[in-house]
Amino acid sequence: MKKILPILLLLAAVSCKTIESPSENGGEETVTFSVSPSELSFENADKTTKYVSVKSSGNWTAQPSASWMHVNPTSGSGNGSFSVTVDDYSGSNPRTGSIAVSGNGKGTVSVSQGSASLALKTPSFDGVKRASTTYQLLIYSFADSDGDGVGDFKGIQEHLDYLDALGVTALWLSPAHPTNSYHAYDVNDYFSLNPLYGTETDFKNLIDAADAKGIKIYMDYVLNHSGKNNAWFKSVLSDPVNSDYKDYYVISTNYLADVSAGLVDNYGGGTDAGMGDWHDLAGGDAGYNGRLHFVLDSSTKRITVTKSDAAVDTPASTSDWYIYCGSFKGMKKTATNIYELTIDISTDWGFLVCSKNDWSSGSKYGASSSSGPIAFGTPYQLYTNADNDKVGNIVFGTAYKYFASFDQSMPDLNYGNYAECENSPAFKATVESAKKWVDMGVAGFRLDAVIWIYQAQLKANQRFLDQWYQAVNNYYKQKHSENIFMVGETWCDGGHNGEPNNPVKYPQRGGEKDYYKGLPSCFEFDYGYKLQSVLNDRNVGDFVSTISQYVSEHKAIRSDAITSFFLSNHDQMRFASSLGQSLEKEKQAAAILLTTPEKPYIYQGEELGYWGNQNNGDEYVRAPIVWDAAATKVAKNGVNNKVDNAMLKGSISVETQSADENSLLNVYKTWSRLRNTYPALASGEMSTTSISDAAIAAWYMTSGSQKLLVIHNVASAQREVSVSDSMDKPVALLGTASTKNGRLILGPNSSVVFEL
Ligand code: MG
Repeated sequence: MKKILPILLLLAAVSCKTIESPSENGGEETVTFSVSPSELSFENADKTTKYVSVKSSGNWTAQPSASWMHVNPTSGSGNGSFSVTVDDYSGSNPRTGSIAVSGNGKGTVSVSQGSASLALKTPSFDGVKRASTTYQLLIYSFADSDGDGVGDFKGIQEHLDYLDALGVTALWLSPAHPTNSYHAYDVNDYFSLNPLYGTETDFKNLIDAADAKGIKIYMDYVLNHSGKNNAWFKSVLSDPVNSDYKDYYVISTNYLADVSAGLVDNYGGGTDAGMGDWHDLAGGDAGYNGRLHFVLDSSTKRITVTKSDAAVDTPASTSDWYIYCGSFKGMKKTATNIYELTIDISTDWGFLVCSKNDWSSGSKYGASSSSGPIAFGTPYQLYTNADNDKVGNIVFGTAYKYFASFDQSMPDLNYGNYAECENSPAFKATVESAKKWVDMGVAGFRLDAVIWIYQAQLKANQRFLDQWYQAVNNYYKQKHSENIFMVGETWCDGGHNGEPNNPVKYPQRGGEKDYYKGLPSCFEFDYGYKLQSVLNDRNVGDFVSTISQYVSEHKAIRSDAITSFFLSNHDQMRFASSLGQSLEKEKQAAAILLTTPEKPYIYQGEELGYWGNQNNGDEYVRAPIVWDAAATKVAKNGVNNKVDNAMLKGSISVETQSADENSLLNVYKTWSRLRNTYPALASGEMSTTSISDAAIAAWYMTSGSQKLLVIHNVASAQREVSVSDSMDKPVALLGTASTKNGRLILGPNSSVVFEL
């Protein structure tokens, strides 16, 4: 909606004439006349008394030009002063007048009262979307077309007008592949689509319909791991030795030895994977159910276990040695240094050997960190440790384990030695799958969890990402003139610069900026964190210079770098919650995001003011869109009905907010339209201004000859700053703003953009 505001009037300051006249009789006597100050300004209901001093060698008079000004006294003799007061004023533009002071010279004091509200001069939008604003969309909870309560491709297609009005030029869709979870980051087949979302025809129709509105489709691609029900992994599960897909996963019969030998690039190395764990490939077979005969040689600390049909022994009540698999079973001494026991056991984790029937220090014996599972009939070396917790369980069953950075439902894919990752079958297969979607019209990929592909090993990840990007982009460019878009989820501890204080654990670990050596775009997580602080602390700090510096650093690494800025995403507390659900702050966050350079992302629901945290599950930050005021069209099944019904009401719906000119949704639409109007905002360069105020974030955005001045007041009170640039053409306003005598007065949480 276009705001109709009174016309901007700037006070044309009239300077006072100060005259010092020479004497007319020979220069022995000086006639002096001056008036100070030359300008007075009053607020609308100003009760202050201001004073004008007169220096005069004779009589003088002071005469106001209008009756709303009151001068006292109106005359005097010699040096003196008079007071000036004004009547209350309710106009929205300033009124001006003057006081003529006459004596043996003449002077004028300009008087103004009130300030000028900004009259927006926003050019009409020509419909060309110039910005590269992306909407992060959760397929499962955006819009349901078929009544099953789960969002789908047709549902998105039915709401393309909404996304178009929001000014977005791309949709980053949550993973679209078959999955076992609602979130879909466990991909069961990279070459097909989740049937809950629709068919390949539905997907193709969505891509084409979106393209017709200038909206591209980016797929979320999960390269770090697959789902456990992926046919590749199921094949490995059934036959880890002979499966055609055994090289697709990080599997090992003795992972610590393999890691030490440098055979497992995909794993961080040492005894600490950083994130993730090794899991039994077959699952649950660490244990054993049945009758076993144990023979311990206490001199060599070796135990031999065999399956047994013999009668069960009654364990010794006290002994030098015990078998532990849930309770302590005393072994019987049958010869010097030999202890034996036949018992039925039922364990899902294995067993331990103890020298006492308690956990006192030194009692526990078990596997070392490099021991494999026990083999029946073969003596098995026992280890102890001063730290009992480091002794491992003695396990039965398969020797194979697989590595998973996240939970065990998502086994990590294996790309082998990073120096030749492009030759690994998993690399080739994932690239091949991406080509299928490129052929269908997909124009970009958001790559999930990229720092974990090689377990935070920066150099390996950089090379992998570069190779994967090149492989897909080379294919894309066979049919397109521009490069494909690809953005990485580079969520690093330490953010942009990484974590300098943790050099031991991850000697090669980098920050977000380092990943531009692999991909043209990375998510700048620092942005949202910093903006939260700016808005909550009401202090801009180094926000402007830091954002500007980040963009410069990325472009210095690669000329095609595009920084991806966002408020929050599906893995974080909702930005509205971080702002204490302050609608004024949420509106200003939108205005700041949409005047920030490079590539902004709007996360589904953010434009409606969705709040939520992950205390009861990630679903609560992934809530479905409420489309109608009756709140009947809500894809709640897409998040297993884990929703905050107090939030998902008609009052927060698209229908309700669309009809409210002052809604958050309309702030997003207005500022997004502004971004699409001006190339300076859409793709311009950010630079700093001389405006200096702890609560004012101001910067220029420039493209060619076009230059805009962006100013945000994050304070809870009105703020007044001197602006040296022209304020003649304000083109966007959030909150309130007025000008007076070359100064800008911005209301609390108010933002303004001037075209210069
Ligand atoms: Mg559906």
